[in-house]
Amino acid sequence: PLVLGIETSCDETGFALVRGRELLADVTASSMDEHARFGGIVPEVASRAHLEAFVPTLDAALDAAGCRLEDVDAVAVTAGPGLVGSLTVGLAAAKSLALALDRPLYGVNHVIGHIAVDELVHGAFPDHFVGLVVSGGHTSLLEVRDIATDVVELGQTLDDAAGEAFDKVGRLLGLPYPGGPHVDRLSQQGDRTAIRFPRGLSRGKDAVRHPYDFSFSGLKTAVARYVEGVEDAGEELPAADVAASFSEAVADVLVSKTLAACQRTGTRTVVIGGGFSANSRLRELAAERGAVHGIEVRIPPIRYCTDNGAMIAALGSAMLRSGVAPSAAGIPADSGMPLTTVRA
Ligand code: ATP
Ligand code: FE
Ligand code: MG
Repeated sequence: PLVLGIETSCDETGFALVRGRELLADVTASSMDEHARFGGIVPEVASRAHLEAFVPTLDAALDAAGCRLEDVDAVAVTAGPGLVGSLTVGLAAAKSLALALDRPLYGVNHVIGHIAVDELVHGAFPDHFVGLVVSGGHTSLLEVRDIATDVVELGQTLDDAAGEAFDKVGRLLGLPYPGGPHVDRLSQQGDRTAIRFPRGLSRGKDAVRHPYDFSFSGLKTAVARYVEGVEDAGEELPAADVAASFSEAVADVLVSKTLAACQRTGTRTVVIGGGFSANSRLRELAAERGAVHGIEVRIPPIRYCTDNGAMIAALGSAMLRSGVAPSAAGIPADSGMPLTTVRA
């Protein structure tokens, strides 16, 4: 069956067409340029941009796939989490499409979509695996037996998400918003052993009580103190070393806890997804340490890490395969949708 995936949870308007695990088209429009000068996403601006981009982007995806709207067998749309205004634009339009075409509607979890998209790239998932979702709003470890129906959250961040911490450190280093990719680029010219920054919840009682939880706010504060100290001393900030050492601390704790979760759950495969999985040091360290421990590490190519329609179509397609019933006609946008709710 042909699944249309629609993503509008934040600033990207994404459409994709997927048949089984085959991606036929994936087209994304972004309003990030309109938000950049505000140093953050402006919800009303994002909602309006979705409204404007919706039909042209849908048309572009249908064109690219060489199919017509009537060929679509099911509609999958992000029901949450995300900005309520942005979600509402996508959901309202998706409901109208499903109604007009008389096709089933699946309101799906955006964050689970970040993992699901990997099936389009690396093929069917194994029966049991660990998922690590790292994005602008989430940092969670998942135990997955069926991506469409059976997702258990092992742990999550107690404060900032990984991407959020990068964006804040980007601001500290005077880099443009969103800082994540800029900090990543700068870190590649630095010495990652130059400064020893803390690994949150990794030692002593904290590690015992929170084996699969994360905390990045202490790390962010440590970076801020370091930057202040250098400025107070009137010295020049070794920005690349700070970026590299900070990136190392984040990647180290993410990979350590993920591999520990594999050991504890007896799984041999890890799937990493979400905007932050574009991070070069995370990708490198996960591959390196996964190989040492005999764990297969799957991370989608960078264009499927950030928000897109393919992730939503992939999850909708997985639901059809698992025989999941469609969503009810009245489902609302759920800005705080929990990770364990895969379908609204
Ligand atoms: P969520 O998926 O939790 O709702 P979101 O959709 O806003 O959040 P994504 O678009 O998945 O988040 O990811 C965006 C985040 O990823 C931003 O914080 C951005 O800075 C970060 N990011 C993107 N590329 C990189 C990179 N190479 N290194 C570090 N961070 C990055
Ligand atoms: Fe996302
Ligand atoms: Mg985004």
